[in-house]
Amino acid sequence: MIIARTIVDLKEHLYALSEGGRRSIGYVPTMGYLHEGHASLMREAKSHNDITVLSIFVNPTQFGPNEDLDRYPRDEERDLKLADECGINIVFLPAVQEMYPRPSKTSVIVSGLTDRLCGASRPGHFDGVGLVVSKLFHLIKPDRAYFGMKDAQQVAVIQQMVDDLNIDTVIVPCPTVREPDGLALSSRNVYLSAEHRAQAVVLSQSLAQAKTWIEEEATTAGSLLSLVKDRIESVPDAVIDYVELLQYPSLDPLNEHELTHKLESPVLLAMAVKFGTTRLIDNSLYHPSGGV
Ligand code: AMP
Repeated sequence: MIIARTIVDLKEHLYALSEGGRRSIGYVPTMGYLHEGHASLMREAKSHNDITVLSIFVNPTQFGPNEDLDRYPRDEERDLKLADECGINIVFLPAVQEMYPRPSKTSVIVSGLTDRLCGASRPGHFDGVGLVVSKLFHLIKPDRAYFGMKDAQQVAVIQQMVDDLNIDTVIVPCPTVREPDGLALSSRNVYLSAEHRAQAVVLSQSLAQAKTWIEEEATTAGSLLSLVKDRIESVPDAVIDYVELLQYPSLDPLNEHELTHKLESPVLLAMAVKFGTTRLIDNSLYHPSGGV
């Protein structure tokens, strides 16, 4: 496994391995502190491409001024071991100075899709994501790039960006990997106290409960949201940032009648909930066929 810390190094190794573009490149962008969720993306990339590239970069432009940039967890040695086990060929590990040698005067703003859910709670977050992902796509030129549906809004935003800018990369959404009790794996779970870790299971439990309510067509969007919020707030330290039901991938609001009839298009139930200073997100996608 090759470790490239500079753009020059990355390009040299990509050039050598890709045989003038004849070998396909699968790419997994991450911020490191890797877990089985990231590993599932790496394995998926490995099984469908000739060359697999992983990037580990805690991107400062997607963090707000009072967010956890400085304390974001890192463990390079463990990350490299997992990447190696997953068969990654090149790990790109740039320093901030390498990615941003000067402040960028170019912005990548995907409008509309980014003014709700996490975009509303974290102003500027998706501008940072759009900027760094487009820079990384230009450097790596992947045939396919793998993203987790844990960040469903991110998948919708990146897909829109790729379509709008004619970027020649297929976006492959991958299912959320969970702990045995249902908690979605996240690098940020490490922040949780034992007490909050136990309470956090309410997110996935409320999503599973919502699935039953939706399948039974027994509720309107408004009352479903109330039921889900009540369920989350039944644990002592949960503070809801948002719980929303939207069409997917447009993220347009849902017609009130859509839940009481058969679903016509996929519906996303997405939530962000704080336990102390730790903000967790989770979601579930409900398909017209009834599958999740
Ligand atoms: P991050 O390092 O948190 O920026 O995540 C990098 C990629 O891994 C993103 O595409 C995430 O959606 C994905 N990811 C994070 N957690 C999970 C999970 N539990 N299951 C599947 N993919 C995940």
